[in-house]
Amino acid sequence: MAAASPVILCFEKQRLIKEFERAVSELHRMQSAQVLAVRNGEDFPFREQIAAASERRDCAKYAIIAHQQDHGCSRTEVPWRAEK
Ligand SMILES: [Zn+2]
Repeated sequence: MAAASPVILCFEKQRLIKEFERAVSELHRMQSAQVLAVRNGEDFPFREQIAAASERRDCAKYAIIAHQQDHGCSRTEVPWRAEK
């Protein structure tokens, strides 16, 4: 019996990584807006939105980890170096 061939490109993993990137960007945008607001004398607005964005980022991260473990595509790609 031949060994299973390695996964060269996993589209689901790529999709999950894009989702993670969007979640991280959203979180950074909100945190930047909060910093700006505090500089303008406001008292830490956007707390709930930042907490929700942080949770979305974490969920996206754990979805990637779970997918890699289930699918076995963790060691065959270097996604952060992939062409966009
Ligand atoms: Zn995969």
